Amino acid sequence: FEKLPVASNSHDELTEMGNTFNEMMDLLEENYSKQEEFVSNASHELKTPLTVIGSYAKLLQRQGMHDEKIAEESLIAIRAETDRMKVLIEQLLHIARRSESQMEWITVNVVDILAQTVTAMNTSYDREFELITAEQSLPVVTDVSKFKQLLYILLDNARKYSANKIEVIAQKNGDTVIQIRDTGIGIPKDAVPFVFERFYRVDKARNRETGGFGLGLSLAKQLADSLKIEISLESIEQLGTTVTITFSENSNVADVHLKQEG
Ligand code: ADP
Repeated sequence: FEKLPVASNSHDELTEMGNTFNEMMDLLEENYSKQEEFVSNASHELKTPLTVIGSYAKLLQRQGMHDEKIAEESLIAIRAETDRMKVLIEQLLHIARRSESQMEWITVNVVDILAQTVTAMNTSYDREFELITAEQSLPVVTDVSKFKQLLYILLDNARKYSANKIEVIAQKNGDTVIQIRDTGIGIPKDAVPFVFERFYRVDKARNRETGGFGLGLSLAKQLADSLKIEISLESIEQLGTTVTITFSENSNVADVHLKQEG
């Protein structure tokens, strides 16, 4: 990333062009090193479960034939690690597909979508998710499948990092605002600014148990960006976390009559 020598005291067109070129080079360089870091993180995360699988396969080969207990322990570990790898690869594919996927914008009642998602989560997990809203109908313009994916990431995080009831609150004050609120372990203050970064995890040890790679929220941010939704997170350690997503009145709060969701 070589830069042009530009005289700092002159203001002619050539100098301006030189400056613009150099700024572009800075951006390219920054992007390039982010890509490099991403690939290196992804490789590392894939290598870890592979190493564990390799070790257990060896153990199985050496001792598993005569020892049923060792055989079972090895197979359980191998299955758990392959499941983890599957999750990681799916998340990596989602990140990579960003630019390819088509958006299907339709007008829907977001209260219906929230109710469906909350019901699905309550069915899948033995946990109480509650939808709290005074509204019957909050029409928004969105891509339903991507929006559900975004909701799923946020509800799943709330479930992973909290043992109590999780509230989903929907309100309208010009903008349509949805909050996912848990009263779980929360996030330390100095970690909050980084949680939307790829591969960022507050506590790697605690995450190993819950199975995360630090990609969920970065994927949520990526989805929110393509859906033109604002997303932000507030958290207090030991008290809980609230994620707020906002459909802006100007860009995606719909006034028109609702089409039935297909
Ligand atoms: P992961 O898939 O590892 O959960 P995320 O990108 O979704 O990764 O989240 C990044 C980090 O932020 C997580 O490692 C976790 O420590 C923290 N985090 C995210 N959501 C919550 C939450 N609701 N409560 C507490 N911590 C959270």
